[in-house]
Amino acid sequence: MNADVIITGAGPNGLLLAGELAQAGLRPVLLEALPERPAEPKANGLVGRVVQAMDYRGLHERLAGTARLTRMDGFQFGALPLDLQRLAEHSMFALPIQQRLLEARLEEWARELGVTVRHGHEVVDVRPDADQVTVDVAGPAGTYSMSARYLVGADGAHSVVRKRSGIGFPGFTDTGFVGRMGQVGIDASVADHKTGVLTVPGAGTFRPATFTRTEHGLFAYGMFVPGVFRVAVHEWDQTVDESAPMTLAELQESLERVLGGPVPLTAPPNGAELGLRRSTDANSRLADKYRAGRVFLVGDAAHVQSGFGGPGLNLGMQDVLNLGWKLAGVLNGWADESLLDTYEAERRPVAARVQAQTRAQTALVGAGPNITGLRDVMTELLQDEPAIQRIADLMAGADIRYPAPGCDHPLAGRWMPDLPLREHGRVAELMRSGRPVLLDFTGTLAETAQPWRDRVDVYTDHTDTAPADAVLIRPDGYVAWAGSDGLVEALTTWFGDALMPAGTPGGHLLS
Ligand SMILES: Cc1cc2nc3c(=O)[nH]c(=O)nc-3n(C[C@H](O)[C@H](O)[C@H](O)COP(=O)(O)OP(=O)(O)OC[C@H]3O[C@@H](n4cnc5c(N)ncnc54)[C@H](O)[C@@H]3O)c2cc1C
Repeated sequence: MNADVIITGAGPNGLLLAGELAQAGLRPVLLEALPERPAEPKANGLVGRVVQAMDYRGLHERLAGTARLTRMDGFQFGALPLDLQRLAEHSMFALPIQQRLLEARLEEWARELGVTVRHGHEVVDVRPDADQVTVDVAGPAGTYSMSARYLVGADGAHSVVRKRSGIGFPGFTDTGFVGRMGQVGIDASVADHKTGVLTVPGAGTFRPATFTRTEHGLFAYGMFVPGVFRVAVHEWDQTVDESAPMTLAELQESLERVLGGPVPLTAPPNGAELGLRRSTDANSRLADKYRAGRVFLVGDAAHVQSGFGGPGLNLGMQDVLNLGWKLAGVLNGWADESLLDTYEAERRPVAARVQAQTRAQTALVGAGPNITGLRDVMTELLQDEPAIQRIADLMAGADIRYPAPGCDHPLAGRWMPDLPLREHGRVAELMRSGRPVLLDFTGTLAETAQPWRDRVDVYTDHTDTAPADAVLIRPDGYVAWAGSDGLVEALTTWFGDALMPAGTPGGHLLS
């Protein structure tokens, strides 16, 4: 056996998982097919709960360049406005970062933790058996094989790991549109290069980071560097010669048809990549299993959906945070193998729910008067705070509640709020080690957790309105247990048998 875990794919999810496992003392092998990170633009940032999860993991400042979290004032659902300022509390956080930079920073973090990323090493086959899983790899010096106790496919939508493990990818493919995108300059006659606002004669005014639906299609754009615009246009009922190379003129013509006014485009300034792309299909698919024996899927390998609201990384990176500590627990010898089954049980329903809401958003931006009527009704509904809250929670993933066997406290299974703490600052600061945390608000339960001190961090602290006597928080930020009764059972269920049974004389001295 060459490794405890082989991870296929050094996209954001593979890199995050490698860092997670390394932080838990493991040495995963990370195999990436491409010799270099591609220049092609992808995500523009993280949206929703994952931003807080990055803060809990101590990665927010590294990724965002600031420790301060940004909560959005407004967003869109199906290109309809969502006025988040109306809400007293919400989890629609944003962390703007281009995917290339996100990957570079995650790779830097993983390397600091001792991870080696093998670029240019493509997994070409997967051969699982009862005790290990073997992969065949095409590397720069030829083909070789490696085996490990577990293999994680973080190899994106076309995952070889998924296909070779016999995991289906049911769902559907939307056609009937032509999408075009590129990274461009926009003439100053139309674009304000400081604010990014476009004023298009005959069409109106448009703001960056918004979607606009017209009777002809959908337009979305952003300005991430002054004067450099990422533009995406979808037109309904179009056909295109897909063999013809995509041009800047084609993008401009499509944009002008959709908006109904002139938008002169140029190559982007400062030598930025033009990155022209055309697409004629969009997939919404969910792996029928997240686990096949010793093989797991995370991120786009497990689910793909339309990009409305930027759900991809919120979903994928939280898959990783969910699986990472469980794999580490099993490999470090304190968790039972059965803990790994909770990964699919918890995360697959979350992806199914994201697919439902992204399909709903896709329907809302469709063509025709029926959709226009639907939008009018939805616009009315989205004036009501409970509706805004519901949609914001859905998009942020703030309505997740994992099963919490044996605990019916309202917090059990939910995200642990980032409460201010008298001694330790705030909850996020306790979570940075990537270990489970028992947070005792009464000073009476910490002793019970002492026999788990080798794997659980125990704190006693105070907050103004404590949600429970004590809270047991999983490394992914979700509450395993809360209350006063049943702590020993919860510790055992989630984090294995104690090093010494609770109450053993001297048990508290073990750490
Ligand atoms: C244009 C665009 C814009 C997007 N915008 C956003 C956004 O704003 N916010 C958001 O949250 N999401 C966005 N997404 C989605 C987001 O990019 C994906 O969810 C994310 O990239 C998934 O990460 P991943 O690590 O699972 O897979 P990927 O990023 O696809 O990475 C998979 C990696 O595996 C490697 N690989 C593949 N096969 C093999 C193999 N056989 N052996 C070894 N390595 C292999 C690939 O080379 C790749 O590096 C966008 C996507 C696109 C295309």
